[in-house]
Amino acid sequence: MEQKSDATLLKEQLFHNPKNGWQRVDDDTQKEIMDFADGYCEFLGNAKTEREAVSLGVEMLEQAGFTPFSLQKSYRPGDRVYQINRGKSLIAAVIGEQPLEKGVRMVISHVDSPRLDLKPNPLYEADELAYFKTHYYGGIRKYQWPTVPMALHGVVVRKDGTSVSVNIGEGENDPRFVVTDLLPHLSAEQNKRTLADGIRGEELNLLVGSMPFKDEKESQLVKLNCLNILYEKYGITEGDFLSAELEIVPAGKPMDIGLDRSLIGGYGHDDRVCAYPSLMATVDVIVPHQTVVTVLTDKEEIGSIGNTGLQSNFLTYFIEDLASCFGCSGHRVLSNSTCLSADVNAAFDPTFCEPFERNNSCYVNYGAVVTKYTGARGKSGSSDASAEFMGKIRGLLDEAGVVWQTGELGKVDAGGGGTVAGYVANLNVDVVDLGVPVLSMHSPFEVISKLDLFMAYKAMEAFYEAE
Ligand code: MN
Ligand code: MN
Repeated sequence: MEQKSDATLLKEQLFHNPKNGWQRVDDDTQKEIMDFADGYCEFLGNAKTEREAVSLGVEMLEQAGFTPFSLQKSYRPGDRVYQINRGKSLIAAVIGEQPLEKGVRMVISHVDSPRLDLKPNPLYEADELAYFKTHYYGGIRKYQWPTVPMALHGVVVRKDGTSVSVNIGEGENDPRFVVTDLLPHLSAEQNKRTLADGIRGEELNLLVGSMPFKDEKESQLVKLNCLNILYEKYGITEGDFLSAELEIVPAGKPMDIGLDRSLIGGYGHDDRVCAYPSLMATVDVIVPHQTVVTVLTDKEEIGSIGNTGLQSNFLTYFIEDLASCFGCSGHRVLSNSTCLSADVNAAFDPTFCEPFERNNSCYVNYGAVVTKYTGARGKSGSSDASAEFMGKIRGLLDEAGVVWQTGELGKVDAGGGGTVAGYVANLNVDVVDLGVPVLSMHSPFEVISKLDLFMAYKAMEAFYEAE
């Protein structure tokens, strides 16, 4: 063996040079990573909307002995409870050994994803084709959404208060829907548009039918035929669209990407890639040191507003109710609490490296990404985690052998973004973002690494189980 030079030894001691995660895990861990990814794909493929994610989450919790939280009950360490907010956000807690007043540990992710929502009056016929008008939800690059097979998910509430769940496009023999685009032969004018303007919001019209109802006299027979099919299947009429939440999402299941099957492609990784590991980490907890609180929230993609978003008081009220069960005050619990705001970050993309700064980006396969601050234009709108809290999380992750990295969202002034961290910080909680790097974020087909997913799970587990 050649002897290492002084400089080599000193570099090993002083430099921070993380290695690719696959080169840091043994064969057993690699198998665990692949198995964990299978469970995640099952979840991802069946939880395309916030409502579906919440009901699958509740299923997982109930199977693990969680019961609905009740103010009338008294709770002991190890007790497992959950609370649903309007079917669209979910809180789960496992009572810890320490007095509640000493604070809780929270992992908060979101289960809404960018998509196309139906407008309140969606169905129309144009030149004997039937379409749904849509209004996109969250930040999308509109040109990515045409010519992709789509499914319709959601709920319709009738005037009498009864409701029906809609799901068309996921079953093997289901029909799909699609937004059309021009052919290259005739797109000379459209090609002059900027990319941002390539497909416009009012052009995201979903093709839903083309066969007229058989009749000699009436008009709008394609639309009528579509309505009739919906009426026969779900008992709904056109007016019922007014009281509905119908979401158009890419159809189909997630799939392995790459010859080596190291990646997963699918719709909605942001942020189910954090929600799923947080549920798994919660279910794993037996009797934690501090009480753990896992939150799946809604509306993150449009600013966390609304009564199911994290700017509402639903989390604060839950903590207050939990505190009252233990005879302490909610604000004191929160003031002693810590939180991982579990959300994705943009993975460095070698094909589009311009907006990334190499020394401060997160990379596929380098593990869970800890993002100290987000924001835009000089950290504006960001919750900047303190050095103290970063130090604590660093120690905790390293201690547990978690493969992790740090990353900013792109170059300074390249753009920016935010998470729920700021709203959690407003509750006087120590919080930092931790999640998974994503390629093609907010597209109909996002890509993540199985290793990074697993390491996010390990990070959350370590956070919950640490003394
Ligand atoms: Mn997100
Ligand atoms: Mn997002």
